[in-house]
Amino acid sequence: HPPFDVHALRRDFPVLQERVNGRQLVWLDNAATTQKPQSVIDRISYFYAHENSNIHRGAHELAARATDAYEGARERVRQFINAPDVNEVIFVRGTTEGINLVAKSWGGQHVGEGDEIIVSHLEHHANIVPWQQLAAAKGAKLRVIPVDDSGQVLLDEYRKLLGDRTKIVAVTQVSNALGTVVPVKEIVDLAHRAGALALVDGAQSVSHMRVDVQEIGADFFVFSGHKVFGPTGIGAVWARRDVFEDMPPWQGGGNMIADVTFEKTLFQPIPNKFEAGTGNIADAVGLGAAIDYVNRVGMENIARYEHELLAYGMQRLGAVKGVRLIGTASDKASVMSFVLAGHDTEEVGQALNKEGIAVRTGHHCAQPILRRFGVETTVRPSLAFYNTCEEIDRLVAVLRQLAGQRRL
Ligand code: PMP
Repeated sequence: HPPFDVHALRRDFPVLQERVNGRQLVWLDNAATTQKPQSVIDRISYFYAHENSNIHRGAHELAARATDAYEGARERVRQFINAPDVNEVIFVRGTTEGINLVAKSWGGQHVGEGDEIIVSHLEHHANIVPWQQLAAAKGAKLRVIPVDDSGQVLLDEYRKLLGDRTKIVAVTQVSNALGTVVPVKEIVDLAHRAGALALVDGAQSVSHMRVDVQEIGADFFVFSGHKVFGPTGIGAVWARRDVFEDMPPWQGGGNMIADVTFEKTLFQPIPNKFEAGTGNIADAVGLGAAIDYVNRVGMENIARYEHELLAYGMQRLGAVKGVRLIGTASDKASVMSFVLAGHDTEEVGQALNKEGIAVRTGHHCAQPILRRFGVETTVRPSLAFYNTCEEIDRLVAVLRQLAGQRRL
């Protein structure tokens, strides 16, 4: 691997040169969305300038180019998560749509009255609400794996929840609110031993660590392109071929059919069966370019650098008087949630914005886990590989000032 040069890599991201309130932007809102390298921006623009067409149906040159570009992106996603078969990758709008697809299609078929669905206390609302809706419609029950005071799931408690009524276990790989890295391989394994399927929400993991769906062993894996330096409006659901083949389509329309009469419709095989209508072709191609970019930087390099950056950030933040860090699991990625005594979180966010520093404040679409720690909102800086120790120092300087301490 080439040496990891953060300052050189930063120049690939035009938005990092922006000035906000007279200061150079510090982007620490990566858990909400990541910034895009020039190569992704250029790839989308190239698609519209040279390849734009609907896919599959047209018998002309541009349809062939667009189809090649789109299917090329699918193959990049396959490699990125090490799926065994490219047809097991379905393009969707993002993680939210992916989980809804699984809950509606697989859940609609397999979850019945008295059945149980297990999620963890860490989940994003996107991995709670669709299951809750399914449970309400079917008379099934949602059960929750509790966490310890560091924000890590309690595996012994999980074991007790599993039973013959458990149909599916749906857990995040990395918590967007606390940064906890969840032991998904173990969770999936235990689910399988209980005869249940498992879904892993990869929205927060794919930009920080190497993901291998075969190693994890899950039945479903879902992620969003915009969290991994790609465009918004595109993401993927992976499932094992036999699982997908057994599932009914969740939307009907063009592209997903083999034959239609007024009496009956025959469906296409996967992936088309789950891709009704014209998809987000250009942004799928953009996601492919984002994966190429990540591959060039190297996920091992990213993970190693971020590990050090996170340790530095946690240590510096933890040393600010009045800061309470929320989420202190030993296995953690990117996210540093905290509250500052005597200051509400919104006020902290505004003070940071005044200095050009972007963080999220609020409930982060994960209200249950924040309430587990007795708060409604936190301040949430979240790191990507293009962040630096100097940026963390700028964050800490503002907090120290707010906390009524003198700058160093
Ligand atoms: N799950 C997790 C863990 C997330 O962090 C997010 C995004 N904040 C989602 C699901 C939903 O992703 P999207 O909004 O891209 O559909």
